[in-house]
Amino acid sequence: MEKTSQISGYYKLPREERLRRLAEFAGLGPEEMEALVSGLSVEQAEKMVENVVATFKLPLGMAVNFLVNGKEYIVPMATEETSVVAAASNAAKMCRATGGFKATTTEPIMIGQIQLLTKDAKKAKKAVEDNREKIIALANTKDQKLVSLGGGARDVEARIVKAAGGDMLIIHLLVDVRDAMGANAVNTMCEAVSPLIEEATRGKTRLKIISNLADRRLARSEVRVSKEELGGAEVVDAIIDAYEFAAADPYRAVTHNKGAMNGITAVTIATGNDSRAVEAGAHAYACRDGRYMPLTRWEKDADGNLAGEIEMPLALGIVGGATMNPTARMSLKILRVKSARELSEVAASVGLAQNLAALRALSTEGIQRGHMGLHAKNIAMMAGAKGADIERVAGIMVKEKNVNVNRAKELLEAGK
Ligand code: NAD
Repeated sequence: MEKTSQISGYYKLPREERLRRLAEFAGLGPEEMEALVSGLSVEQAEKMVENVVATFKLPLGMAVNFLVNGKEYIVPMATEETSVVAAASNAAKMCRATGGFKATTTEPIMIGQIQLLTKDAKKAKKAVEDNREKIIALANTKDQKLVSLGGGARDVEARIVKAAGGDMLIIHLLVDVRDAMGANAVNTMCEAVSPLIEEATRGKTRLKIISNLADRRLARSEVRVSKEELGGAEVVDAIIDAYEFAAADPYRAVTHNKGAMNGITAVTIATGNDSRAVEAGAHAYACRDGRYMPLTRWEKDADGNLAGEIEMPLALGIVGGATMNPTARMSLKILRVKSARELSEVAASVGLAQNLAALRALSTEGIQRGHMGLHAKNIAMMAGAKGADIERVAGIMVKEKNVNVNRAKELLEAGK
């Protein structure tokens, strides 16, 4: 029988016990546990970016309770923000009774762009279309590994874009990148086919680069949550009101989406993926119809329960890029995902869960209650509290609903 990701009171366990339970769930051996805890070394970091002097650490928390397409997941989340991991775990728990998340993805098609400057964009477009097969074949000679895995260049599209200095022909090379994020693979192919395009069109190519608006590589997830799990019919109504606010007002929609990205970006970073690529794609997709909109949608079903969905581009890989980071390797092992598509299905579900948790908190008790516990500890530490004083000072401030550095200093003094 499959091990469950529903571990009640996971947050109350000592860290060593949390790690032990996690290792049991994911089948991590002692060396893997060590790799997870120690993470990236400075020596490894030096091979990744320039001018390295140290590594920067983030908390890695485990969101429990996730059930996606009938499979159990514990989800590693790298985030500095208080309450995100707890909120994802809580929302995932509420969604279990109704079968969890149902997620799908399209094929992992990324778009490479080639900018062509030409006097006659119409004629150049026709030349590109006439050479479609040749361009695809040439692109595919550049990544035999990808082709051997069933991926590779699939299609070529060209469109005339009106720019300030006149018409440009923008050529899109569509590449199935399988389990990679794909930027390096696509950029290499775009550069390789450019001389052929120049020859065929007698134009001049300039930029050759992937587009982060990965709208051919979409992830979707949907969920149904019973009104009882949420706390009653009024909570369902309050969440719908909150969603309608976001759908009507971009000032709210951007924060609504930021909440969903709290989950998605945390999974993106934990798995060594490119968070800027995912964020850029998400926000561009959110305004694809000309106005910035929520990435999620919520409605009340015929029985008065809450139904929600998320749809967005997700360029996540399980090979290549920085997925070789030891923490990322262990995060992928904990997730037990077999493909980049499966990873995106889980990440989209985490985004939906995160959004649900935020809307529920905001439309009922307000966001601050959940944030206060850890926030108060941070404030206590800012005031100079150490050891047992952190809990003591934070506890009093939360009780008093008065969390600030001055009060923390007073309480510290009083306790001496
Ligand atoms: P990569 O080149 O490291 O890995 C991809 C390659 O791995 C493929 O080309 C293929 O040859 C090989 N491979 C082996 N097994 C595979 C499998 N199962 N599926 C697919 N490929 C497999 O990395 P990448 O994914 O091409 O590029 C990702 C990196 O590019 C990220 O680090 C990202 O930050 C960076 N990047 C991003 C942008 C951008 O988003 N605008 C631009 C430039 C670079």
